Amino acid sequence: MSAAWEARARDIAMQPMPSDLARVVDIMCNDCERKSPGRDWHFLGVQCPGCSSFNTVVESVISGNGSGVAAAAAANGGSGGGSEDRMEN
Ligand SMILES: [Zn+2]
Repeated sequence: MSAAWEARARDIAMQPMPSDLARVVDIMCNDCERKSPGRDWHFLGVQCPGCSSFNTVVESVISGNGSGVAAAAAANGGSGGGSEDRMEN
């Protein structure tokens, strides 16, 4: 795992989502292209269990109040930071 992702995982561990914002999402990883259903969403990003990347996109929200769905997508799409790590094809 890259140092950047380790730092992100640590930030997330230190900032658990409040229960009223918690939601479960399906993600797809841009790094290994693996789909991972049923991940706990976090505004800092959702980690791919396959390769530990946070370069993931939320494909659908399984549960939650719905009001943060756009924010979830924006947080993941605009997370920047790791864009130089991205390797497509
Ligand atoms: Zn991955």
